[in-house]
Amino acid sequence: MTNTISTRCCVVGGGPAGMMAGYLLARAGIDVVVLEKHGDFLRDFRGDTIHPSTLDVMGELGLLEGLLRRPHSEVAHIDGIVGDERVHIADFSHLPTRCKFIAFMPQWDFLDYLANAARDLPTLRLMMNAEATDLIESDGVVRGIRGEAADGQFEIAADLVIAADGRRSCIREAAGLAVESLGAPMDAFWMRLSKQPQDQAATFGRISAGAMFIMLDRGDYWQCALLIRKGSADAIKAHGLDAFRHLLARASDMPAARFAEIDDLDKVKLLAVALDRLKDWAKPGLLCIGDAAHAMSPVGGVGINLAIQDAVAAANILADPLRRGPVDLPTLKRVQARRSFAVRATQAAQKMIQERVIGPALDSGSTPKLPLPLRLFNRFPILRRIPARLIGVGIKPEHIHPALLRDAPRS
Ligand SMILES: Cc1cc2nc3c(=O)[nH]c(=O)nc-3n(C[C@H](O)[C@H](O)[C@H](O)COP(=O)(O)OP(=O)(O)OC[C@H]3O[C@@H](n4cnc5c(N)ncnc54)[C@H](O)[C@@H]3O)c2cc1C
Repeated sequence: MTNTISTRCCVVGGGPAGMMAGYLLARAGIDVVVLEKHGDFLRDFRGDTIHPSTLDVMGELGLLEGLLRRPHSEVAHIDGIVGDERVHIADFSHLPTRCKFIAFMPQWDFLDYLANAARDLPTLRLMMNAEATDLIESDGVVRGIRGEAADGQFEIAADLVIAADGRRSCIREAAGLAVESLGAPMDAFWMRLSKQPQDQAATFGRISAGAMFIMLDRGDYWQCALLIRKGSADAIKAHGLDAFRHLLARASDMPAARFAEIDDLDKVKLLAVALDRLKDWAKPGLLCIGDAAHAMSPVGGVGINLAIQDAVAAANILADPLRRGPVDLPTLKRVQARRSFAVRATQAAQKMIQERVIGPALDSGSTPKLPLPLRLFNRFPILRRIPARLIGVGIKPEHIHPALLRDAPRS
């Protein structure tokens, strides 16, 4: 028998966008169900960056101190290596934000913290291991979702469905919303590497002839990414393990023996990079936010921040009307109208870096020349505040509406 639940708002996806939207709406007293298809947040190959504007949002909610008590590292400057030259890219220490750094924290810790805060709210129901499989629609209006959990199929009737189910959103597909693809020249292989005493301090990225390599400090191990030409993963794997280790060695400037622990190509995960957006984020009864509305490239590591900003904008706009019942389409469209410029401008910047820096670097047989902006950042430190602002705060940062802050719990 199908289990049926009724709620005011059903949020599909417990990633940054969905957890934050669910938390904010529930804190405003609205009955919310958040569905997450996995049983926990423990997935490895996810972005780990919590940006100053997201930290500001957490501060406005009274959740910042508790968050920063969790293990994390604070990064006030971003550097990279092009060929053999170290380049200074961004300096966050002058930002007009509470935290003048990016917090590096495994995304599962961030989501787990938010989920724990959400569990204290009587109007939020977080269903783990619960996957939305289809929309329930009648007369052109989304009325809820169908899903599957360990104990069988279920249906959720809701005045509003928020799709926050990421870049492969099944909800946006079921809704038939048109997607505009902006293309991406690369995919990424992700892998773990244990730390060694001789390892240098954290390096964020290295661009060399035909290769890009990224190392993220995860405390007791490195999470590494090798960027490759889109679609070339099978050909690279076909050359075998030894050739792969040599490719890593060349890209990272470390000896191939350093990668001996990668003894099976199955330990290397492929993440397909996508850059796209919906023409319309909403239809009657449905709103898409985060990657479900606009898949972000890993360039700049800004996807989580944008997902959070969408969630804040959605809650600010929708909390009050949702309290009264179903929300009309023009009100849902206000969320896209508010966020669209920030998304488009950020995606345009990502596309430009993909096409002018990453694509040519991956194709090149020689070490790429330092692009002019990077030469200027190296020479004039004050200029590093510009990328810091764009990456750390983003365009049009959102703040929690005071009405949502009533009875804010103190951390
Ligand atoms: C290789 C790579 C590296 C990246 N690195 C960074 C980085 O360092 N920093 C950064 O800010 N961004 C990074 N990004 C982008 C970032 O991961 C996304 O922009 C961000 O996670 C989007 O958040 P979201 O909540 O919209 O979607 P997601 O994080 O994708 O969350 C969607 C959630 O929905 C769940 N879900 C999916 N389908 C269903 C369903 N049918 N029913 C129920 N639940 C479902 C999923 O399990 C998931 O938990 C990276 C992206 C890539 C591809």
